Amino acid sequence: MSNQHCPGFESNKTLKEVKIKCPGCGKEWGIFSDETEKNVKCPDCGMIFDPKTAVVK
Ligand SMILES: [Zn+2]
Repeated sequence: MSNQHCPGFESNKTLKEVKIKCPGCGKEWGIFSDETEKNVKCPDCGMIFDPKTAVVK
């Protein structure tokens, strides 16, 4: 078998990108799933909110 992979890559495997939408200005962007554990700040208007309430499906 030649099924080798980089060891450092393994820790990122459970992370996936989550798309969120700012409730203030409506900007959509992607964050990593581990970032949903804490509040995020909108890069556009600076509003801080809980990303779990703003996930775009
Ligand atoms: Zn915003």
